[in-house]
Amino acid sequence: MDSSGIDDIQRVRDASDIVRVIGEHIELKARGKEYVCLCPFHDDKKPSMTVVPQKQIYKCFSCGAGGDVYEFVKNYHQMTFGEAIRYLADRAGVKLQERHRKRTSNDNADSVTKSVLIEANELAERFFKSILRHAEHGTAARELIEKRGISKEMVDAFHLGASPDRGDGLRQCLESKGHKLDPFMQLGLLKASDRGQAPYDAQRNRLVFPIRDQIGRVIAFGGRRINDEDEPKYINSSESPVFDKSSTLFGLDLANRAIQREGVAVIAEGYTDVIACHQAGITNTVATLGTALTTKHATVLQRLCHTVVFLFDGDEAGQKAADRAAEVFLTLPIDAKIATLAGYTDAKDPDELLKQEGGADVLRQAIAEATELLEYRLGRLRSRLATAGAAETERAIREEFRTLGQLGLASADKVRWQFVVRRLSELSGLTTDTVAELVREGGKRAPRLAPVEAEPKIDEIEYRPHRSVTAEILGCMLSMPERWIGMDENEALLESECRETRLWPVFEAMRELAHGTGRTDVLSVVDRLRSTGENHTLAIELERDVSRRHDENTQQMAETLNVCFQTLRQHASTVEAKPASSTADRLEQIKAQKGAFGPNTRILPRVKPH
Ligand SMILES: [Zn+2]
Repeated sequence: MDSSGIDDIQRVRDASDIVRVIGEHIELKARGKEYVCLCPFHDDKKPSMTVVPQKQIYKCFSCGAGGDVYEFVKNYHQMTFGEAIRYLADRAGVKLQERHRKRTSNDNADSVTKSVLIEANELAERFFKSILRHAEHGTAARELIEKRGISKEMVDAFHLGASPDRGDGLRQCLESKGHKLDPFMQLGLLKASDRGQAPYDAQRNRLVFPIRDQIGRVIAFGGRRINDEDEPKYINSSESPVFDKSSTLFGLDLANRAIQREGVAVIAEGYTDVIACHQAGITNTVATLGTALTTKHATVLQRLCHTVVFLFDGDEAGQKAADRAAEVFLTLPIDAKIATLAGYTDAKDPDELLKQEGGADVLRQAIAEATELLEYRLGRLRSRLATAGAAETERAIREEFRTLGQLGLASADKVRWQFVVRRLSELSGLTTDTVAELVREGGKRAPRLAPVEAEPKIDEIEYRPHRSVTAEILGCMLSMPERWIGMDENEALLESECRETRLWPVFEAMRELAHGTGRTDVLSVVDRLRSTGENHTLAIELERDVSRRHDENTQQMAETLNVCFQTLRQHASTVEAKPASSTADRLEQIKAQKGAFGPNTRILPRVKPH
């Protein structure tokens, strides 16, 4: 990689503090000098990922994911390195040199498709925005916005647009500028004509809501009809490599920070409710895209907050949501609550409520007083059985608990299980033993799933990867990069030990760096491995393993390093002992080696950390 490339990489990384960047995606908790969070790269129930500000790296001790800020962004958003650097540069306001500004041959075909589709969406967004501003074609949409009471600020923040009342507005615009139509067909913005004619616009005479991902890239559009006689009421973009409906939340790019700040996400019913809530200052509001909330949605949210409040217009919608939410939330470590407007106002939806005097306060109250999902379900059950006797009510409650078991509670992890069972006991007056028994009964009705193995707490993990002497040495050196200087004959020794092992690429990168720039810190090594197409995670693993065991104590690590080199030297002299003259001598020699180093000569006696 040429020097201008490295320059960009360092400048952007210097401007992208890893704690801030990861913190924008996942809620971080401080623990000592580090931060911990739920790992987004495996199905994490306990915080298994640590973020180390001092080293600017992250590492998951459960699935092994690890890297620098670029690796996090790449893996979290499934970007290429080029996209990651452009995203981080944009975020930090760093201007890139030419070679990183555009897509390169390093970006694979899959990601080229993705960035082509996102660029196509950006183009379409500009078109829809220009139509909304258009004196003639935007009139009807502007009137709808006015009628809905959507403010100028919200129109800008949500980048609202409009599609003209004709079937070829977008296509003609694209063709006149010489754009290929294929990406727009793939996105469902243009539809193939069945009479073999030119493709036509999917969004016709609609108010257009761009749908963005968590970091604000336009991935799809939702179009609401302007004329009531048009069907259907809403048209969304097709699912595509950039748009997965079941994991996308409308408004998340704008709500992200507020959700983290408040620890609560409000889920409204649709686009206009989300916009109305944001306009009223309830900025932690998002919506699913015409589907029930899925486990994928919940997984995104549980990284950001501890509570999800479903905001529904009426009891009926609320009940349906409560039923579905139960399936998703019973086993996840996130609390679900239900807020319905019915008890607070005559307004039929948040949108209407917020147009009334003091409407925002009423809405805030409804959200603050939202009922816990389980309590909501039991309350509904009781009101349905209001006229039934006590025995009948108890029977129904028992059945409800079996249903919860069937819905997944029976296979929840231990912590969640205990929490929910205790809560159900409080709500119902039945003992926890009885509740547990009923839930387990229900669980037996559910199709048998493999039991969920509880993940060990991070503190309980005795983390022990390939603790060979050479690995220990490389780990210490990654943690104390200046140690390479003055290594002299030890370097040759280390080289022969690393050769033909999986440590080789890391050793080689470190040696090259030591002789070149003189920097063998873990980030420089990661950069180098990435530029040569080698796996960087081993470097992170080696550094973290050593640093954690020695509690980042450099004094201790320096001592370990000395002991390790002594051991290596001893080992080398034994191996170099004069060749055995007879089979008997040879056997003696092997025995002696095994006595000293165990059956595998590469894995030496465990080095005491003290
Ligand atoms: Zn993980």
